Amino acid sequence: MRVLPQALGFIRAYSGRAMASFKPVVISGPSGSGKSTLLQKMFKDFPGCFEFSVSHTTRKPREGETDGKDYYFVDRAVFEKMVADGGFLEHAQFSGNCYGTSKMAVEKVQSSGKICILDVEINGVKNIKATDFKAKYIFVQPPSMEALEKRLRGRGTETEESLKKRLDTVQEALDYAKVPGAYDHIIINDDLDVAYEKLKGILCTDIQQVQADFYKKGR
Ligand code: ADP
Ligand code: 5GP
Repeated sequence: MRVLPQALGFIRAYSGRAMASFKPVVISGPSGSGKSTLLQKMFKDFPGCFEFSVSHTTRKPREGETDGKDYYFVDRAVFEKMVADGGFLEHAQFSGNCYGTSKMAVEKVQSSGKICILDVEINGVKNIKATDFKAKYIFVQPPSMEALEKRLRGRGTETEESLKKRLDTVQEALDYAKVPGAYDHIIINDDLDVAYEKLKGILCTDIQQVQADFYKKGR
């Protein structure tokens, strides 16, 4: 997929803006690898430091998911209109559904001064990397296929069909993560506490920066 020229304009405008020194964080990894679990812990431990860029998806909401918080849940017609209007920074198909990061969603977080988190699958990573959008790329890797399948099943969110579709995409994601320079950091999420400490280590300078900016503004 191509990134639209409008998106490039937006990205350039962005990179030229006098914002905080930290970059947005693009986090990726197979479905079930533990991205949400790690990020939720991070958000809880460092309130006010992070915010998700809320994506659009044509997937149906899971139990407990809220429109506008977890995703903007839209139908295909709305999604395609946004694509045609150049509303997305990137978008991709995953497991039979469309997912996209809108320019507005990124802008909203960036202007808040918090660290913007983009949780995207492999094609989203590739599409963003093809632009001059400057980000930190992190891959969350499951310890094994067996563990991943067990976790996905344990999460209880997938049908047999959607589970199979998700597992079918795993090898491609693992192979891409091995490409030199694909990601800045790879976190193997075997023991959750170890993985979390690694994530914290990667982002600690950015967290300190956000906190320092916050206190400066407060003065
Ligand atoms: P993702 O956001 O990458 O799709 P989740 O964060 O939803 O993955 O994790 C999938 C499931 O695996 C969840 O039920 C979560 O509680 C569990 N899980 C995450 N990390 C670990 C871990 N290190 N050990 C065991 N279970 C885990
Ligand atoms: P889920 O349906 O489990 O919420 O997400 C499925 C996959 O879609 C995950 O790998 C997640 O990272 C990815 N995803 C979520 N939002 C976006 C997005 O805006 N763009 C892209 N390319 N992928 C996304």
